[in-house]
Parts: sequence; structure tokens; C-alpha cells
Amino acid sequence: AEAQLRQAQKMEAVGQLTGGIAHDFNNMLAVVVGGLELAQRWLSEAPDKAQRHLGNALDGANRAADLTRRLLAFARSEPARPEFTPVDECIASFAELIERTIGDRIALSLDLGAEELACRLDRQQFENALLNLAVNARDAMDGHGTLVIRTLRDKRAETAALAVQVIDSGCGMAPEVIERVFDPFYTTKPAGQGTGLGMTQVFAFCRQSGGEVQIASTVGEGTSVAMLLPVARPGETAAAVANGGKALSSS
Ligand code: ADP
Repeated sequence: AEAQLRQAQKMEAVGQLTGGIAHDFNNMLAVVVGGLELAQRWLSEAPDKAQRHLGNALDGANRAADLTRRLLAFARSEPARPEFTPVDECIASFAELIERTIGDRIALSLDLGAEELACRLDRQQFENALLNLAVNARDAMDGHGTLVIRTLRDKRAETAALAVQVIDSGCGMAPEVIERVFDPFYTTKPAGQGTGLGMTQVFAFCRQSGGEVQIASTVGEGTSVAMLLPVARPGETAAAVANGGKALSSS
């Protein structure tokens, strides 16, 4: 049923492709073609000018390439390869890439309190999810602020769960944005800047790992996105984790 649901979501997403993404892609292509035409025209008369137009064309082409790459990764949805992952350790070693992504003017603060707790998850997908959340936080903070990544044992959860919270002091989300935030291709960002696939990936990753996503946000104050992931013990199978550890007790 889970696989079917995922397939249905994927088909729905691909269906929306024609409307939203193809439009964006066409715009990028127009930038490429326009730039190349102008470069060709000015090539001998004003090489400087031609150079500038070539730069624009290259920029458009790179954006289009980035878009299709993300799109393919999403549509292909490579099967998860869950492995036993000490979460704090994983985040700590990924922090440098996050720092580089959010830039100098946003400080990254790590508050890792999950100790030795581990989850059974696809490490690369987890890192992707973190990066997507960090990029959203960066964009919400308009260039400066502090991004907090906090981990802790979530005591509210019925089964042992680990919470990974990504907290920003940015613009926050209105209720109608929160409602649609996991929809494939839903974005409020200007064309070419958002794909609307970031939160979709985060949602899919958490579901696949047997967990869930929780969002707390106040407009004008900030947002906290929490990935709640089931805790695993060494040797535990992915299925047992997805069942909240129930399969363990019967073995
Ligand atoms: P994208 O970032 O490409 O727009 P996402 O699926 O990651 O796609 O996010 C969808 C939308 O949700 C964003 O366009 C933005 O409006 C909103 N959003 C996501 N994260 C945050 C955040 N931390 N703060 C404010 N708004 C957010």
C-alpha cells in the first residue's frame, strides 16, 4: 500500500509537470536562446557585449540543467538504501556543506543531543533532506540570522523516536502555505529559484524511514521543521524500524 501510495503521488507529480515545470524550463531555454542570438550578433563588433550575453546563456543553461537533475532524481526516486546511522555524527560531518550552502551571513548553530542514538535510514537521502531544510531556512531569513539544527530524543512519541529540528528566525509560513507545503511543485519563490520539491522530498524521506514531519511556524517570527525518526538498534531490520520496533519483540 505504501509503495502504491508513493507511485500515485509520483504520477500526480509528473502530471503537474506539464503545467508548472515545463513553463519554467521554457523560460530558461528562452534565456539561453536569446543570449546566444545576441552573442552571435555582437561577436565581431563588440566582443565584450557578446561575452556578457554568453554569460547569460550559460547561466540559463545551468539553471535548466539543475532543474532537470532535481526532477529526474525525484521521478526516478532511487530505492532507499537504509543503513544504521548514528544521527548526530552524520549531521556533524555534514555541517560543513550546510555552512557553505547557507553562506557567511547566516550562522549555523548545532545543538546535538541525540547522543549515540541511531536510525536506520538512507544516509544520502537524509543529507538531502537536511540540505533542503537549510536552503528553505536560508531563503526565509533573507540573508542573515541563525540557523539551528537540534537533535533530541522525542519523549512524546509512542515508540522511541529521534527528533531532528531545523529552526530559523525567518519570515514564517501562513497556514495556507503550511497546508500545501508538501505538494510536489508547490513554491512561493520566484520562477527559476524554487522547484517546490524540497519539502516533498523531506516528507517522502521521513515516511520511507518510518517517521513523520512536523511543522511549527509563526508568520514574522520563524519556522521549526522537525523530522521524527524511529530509533534503531544495531542489527535491526528496516522493516522492524518501520513497524515501530514491533517486529523485534516477536523474534
Ligand atoms: P521550494 O523551496 O523550491 O519553494 P519547498 O517544497 O522546499 O520548495 O518549499 C515550498 C514552499 O514552502 C516554499 O516556497 C516556501 O514558501 C515555504 N517554506 C518552506 N520552508 C520554509 C521556511 N523554513 N520558512 C518559510 N517558508 C518556508
